[in-house]
This record gives sequence, C-alpha cells and structure tokens, in this order.
Amino acid sequence: MSRRLTAKEFLERFDDALSNGYIFAYYQPQYNHATGRMTGAEALMRWQDPVDGLQYPSDFIPVLEENDILYRADIQMARIACKFQRYCMDNGIPTVPISFNMSRNDIYKHDYVEEVERIRQEYEVPVRLIRVELTETSAIGGMELVSSVIKKFHDYGYVVEMDDFGSGYSSLNILKDLDVDVIKLDLKFINGDIGGRGGIILRSIVQMTKWLRTPIIAEGVETIEQAEFMKSIGSNYVQGYLYSKPVPEKEFMEKLIATQHEATAASLKLVDTFDAEKFWDPESLETLIFNQFVGGAAIFFYKRGEMELIRVNHKYVTEIGMNISEKDFIDKNPWKYFDPQSRTIYEQTITRAIESGEEERCDTWRVLNSKCCGEDRVCIRTFMRVIGRAEDQYIIYALVHNVTKEKMNYEEVAESERRFRHASEHANIYAWEYDIATREMRPCFRCIRDLGLPPLLKDYPEPAISMGIFPPDYADMYREWHRRLEEGEPFLEAVIPLTRERVPFIVRYTTEFDENGNPIKAYGSATYIEERVVE
Ligand code: C2E
Ligand code: CA
Ligand code: CA
Repeated sequence: MSRRLTAKEFLERFDDALSNGYIFAYYQPQYNHATGRMTGAEALMRWQDPVDGLQYPSDFIPVLEENDILYRADIQMARIACKFQRYCMDNGIPTVPISFNMSRNDIYKHDYVEEVERIRQEYEVPVRLIRVELTETSAIGGMELVSSVIKKFHDYGYVVEMDDFGSGYSSLNILKDLDVDVIKLDLKFINGDIGGRGGIILRSIVQMTKWLRTPIIAEGVETIEQAEFMKSIGSNYVQGYLYSKPVPEKEFMEKLIATQHEATAASLKLVDTFDAEKFWDPESLETLIFNQFVGGAAIFFYKRGEMELIRVNHKYVTEIGMNISEKDFIDKNPWKYFDPQSRTIYEQTITRAIESGEEERCDTWRVLNSKCCGEDRVCIRTFMRVIGRAEDQYIIYALVHNVTKEKMNYEEVAESERRFRHASEHANIYAWEYDIATREMRPCFRCIRDLGLPPLLKDYPEPAISMGIFPPDYADMYREWHRRLEEGEPFLEAVIPLTRERVPFIVRYTTEFDENGNPIKAYGSATYIEERVVE
C-alpha cells in the first residue's frame, strides 16, 4: 500500500531518492493508429519510496518545482532514458525515440541543454533516439528564453515537442512563435468531446497545424472513437490508455521486443522534411481514400455554406488542372472557382452526403484563370463522404476526377440537340427533354405555346396522358416506352395520333447515356404528318 508523502517529506527524502534510484522512469509507448505499430515512447517520472510506496508526479512535481530542484530530477530522467537506449542498442533490442519532459524550472538553468547533450554523448545515443518535450506554460513570461532553448536543442539535432498543447494558454499564438517539430495534443483538454467545444478546439488546432505543417501526437487517447477521429483528420500518432498505460522499464522492453515497431528513420523523416505532400499522411489517408480511388483527394470542413479546405493532395491540384502548390491552393477561397450554378449543385451534394452518410457524387464546372492560358473551364466529378462531425460542422473527404473531356462530348450532343430544337420551332415539330432519373419533362417553346404546357412536367408521361395529348388507347404503350427508356432503349419511334383530334405525328425518342452506359436523358420529338390520318 502506498501513502502519499507530504511536501515536507518529499523535500527531505529527495536527495536520497535521487541517489538511490528511487526516482526512475515509466514508459508510455506511442503508436501509429493506422498501422498499429509503436513509433516512440515518453519517459514519465515515478518515485518509489522504500517505505511509503509509489508516488505520482502530480503530487511531487509541484513541490520540487517550487523548491527549484525539479531540474535535478529532470536531468536524471534524461540520463535514465539515454541509459535505457544504450542498453537496448547493446542488447539487440529494437529502439524507438524516447521523449523526456522538460519543465519551466529547466529553462532558467543556463546549462540545461548542454547537460542533456553531455549525457547523450556519454551514452553515445544517436540524437534521433532522444526527444525533448516542453509545455506551452513554460513559455509564460519568457518567450525569448524558451526560443533560445529550442534553438540550442535544434542546433544539436534534437526533435522538440510541444507538450500539453491545447491546455488553454494562448496555444495558437504560441505555436506561431515557437519553432517546435511535433505537437502533443492532450485530448483531456477537450474532454474527449469531439462533438462539442472540443471539436471546435480540434478544428482550430488542425487549422493551425495546417499552416505550420506540424505533425500531431494525440495524447490521452482512451477510446477507439478518439483514435479513429484523429486518424480521420490525418493525425495518426496516439499515446494513451487505449494502447498502453505507462509501464515499468522491464515491461516496456518486452513491448519493444514483441511489437513490430515502425522504422524510426521513417518517422523521423516525417518530422525532418515535413512538407505539404507528406502532411497528407500516406498511411491513414491512403487506406481511407486511395484504396478506393486513385486520384486527387481533399478533406474540407463544411458548415452552412462555409467550406474550408483542410488538406488536398498533389493529385487533387493537378486533376483540377492547376499548376500551384497544395498550400497555395488551400489558402484560396474554395468557392472562387465555382459559378453560382455549380456551387448550388456542389452544396446540394454535400447536403445529400450529410443526410445519407453514403458516398455522393456530382459533376461541377469550374472556371480557371491563368496568366498564360487565360480562362478555361473544367468539369470535375466529385465523390464525397462525411468522415467526421463537430456540432453543425462536417468534415468531408472528396475524391475528384477531371471529366472535362467526356463532358465536352455530352455538351456537344446537347448543343446539337439544342440547335435542332431551335430549328424545330420553325417546322411542325414539337420537342421535349425527358430526364430519366427524375421523370421530369421539359417541353419546347412550341409545346408551351400551342399545348398550354407548363415549363416543367413531373411524373411524365402521366400529365400528357391525363391532358389527353396522348389518347387513352395509346397511354399504355407510351408508358411502356418510358419504362424501356429507363432500361436503356436507345431509340424509339412510332406514329401516334395526338390530342383529341387524333392528329398523326411521328413520335421519336433518342437517348443520351453517360460514360458508364447508363441512360440519362431522352430527347423526344413529335413531327406532324400531313397526309395521313390514323384511326
Ligand atoms: P504529461 O507530460 O502530459 O504526461 C502524460 C500524463 O498523462 C502521464 O501522467 C500519463 O500517465 C497520463 N496519461 C497517459 N495516457 C493517458 C490516458 O489515456 N488517460 C489519462 N487520463 N491519462 C493518461 P503522469 O505520468 O502522472 O504524469 C503527469 C505529469 O507529470 C506529466 O504530464 C508531466 O507534466 C509531469 N511529468 C512526468 N514526468 C516528468 C518528468 O520527468 N519531468 C517533468 N518535469 N515533468 C514530468
Ligand atoms: Ca509530457
Ligand atoms: Ca502531455
């Protein structure tokens, strides 16, 4: 049984604890949630009192800090971590980078960085295997000092992590000013509440890191939902009870041996040469997106007409026909390229995706402007699906495919049809357009004028039958035609006596198909035959 020591006892027993190894490390592994592999670990201080048992940092760290001796324990932790890495390397045990914690107290010690570096060299641990965590609160009242400490670590080649990001203290501003390589985002600061205020904080953090291109490790991940959510917004690295509690050295070593861990070179590379393309995490989003569709992909936020691109991959930009970087693309207003009609179609599709929870698709035209080529129009087919939600804000991923070429062909067909219809205004021809999916019919101007039709008829051909344009004895045949159109009949023709006067017309349908061979529209026409009267 443990008994929590008093502040006085901590202080009295500190020297003894430090020199006898009662202060030591537990290790909490970090994982890539997309692969399940271990990517690193954090060394967490523990104090095993020989009489009163295991003591926790939340109790003794404030006491040590207040008395300006935390510094000594922190240095000890750096030493323990280096010693551990040395042991692993000497015994053929796989290694992952280990982070140790730096406190405010350390920043004011002028030789802290040098001391850590001396220890690292003493144990001959490669710099990539040791990382340092500092909290945003350590910057309070001394931004310049913290910056200079970070710089010193960088000069030696250390990866510096911003701990407890999102704990409240002007986090976003601090990020701009401090040159950290990794952000540790503790989900406890958003109460694991992805749907509420937490989602909003997460959103701002993701926005911020989007600008800064800084990878995130999510801490305090306790549920699979939290891990999945982080993954869905492109942040795969997790540390928390879901995978493992902090464990004693021996147990951690067993995990290292047992777990197939990720090549540290790869994870370091992610940190070292971080650019927009790599920010698009190959692992998670590949599984999410590229398995289903090879091409351009984007993730954006959508909230009542507001759309904000979070990430696009390189193919997305090129697919749309642009020659700019992903970052430049993201920085632009995404609606910039849409005309009002396309925007409406796009937003309707988003609404459908939100309602259905399924993948929805639309084709929209975008207008591109470039200095060299002037104005150009491209047609983009978008497949979209909602992958996350925070209050009334949705996170949507979109896959894009440039279908301008195919569309041009349709446009040409449609255009010639339009011309034809225009010409028919001068002849004895009535024309209409029948939308196969919606069963809507749009009549030509002559139909509207001569037959008194509205510009749009729903549930076609029923209205034409009930109005008597198609007489009762031809009603079933005409209905049958529309069923056949739906099944992909390319062409229909018959002589039909129209209206109550039974005036003979040659009625024709020509069907338009999409590139998959599915019927989209049928163009109808009725041509007057003067010389025959059909009984
Ligand atoms: P921290 O640096 O943010 O460390 C993470 C804390 O979250 C650890 O608590 C860890 O046990 C806990 N944790 C990890 N996963 C989960 C989870 O899924 N759910 C919950 N609820 N908690 C989780 P711990 O070990 O008690 O350490 C508390 C704090 O004490 C640390 O927070 C750090 O600020 C400080 N600390 C620990 N070791 C050191 C050290 O060597 N030096 C300094 N200066 N501070 C240290
Ligand atoms: Ca920490
Ligand atoms: Ca933390």
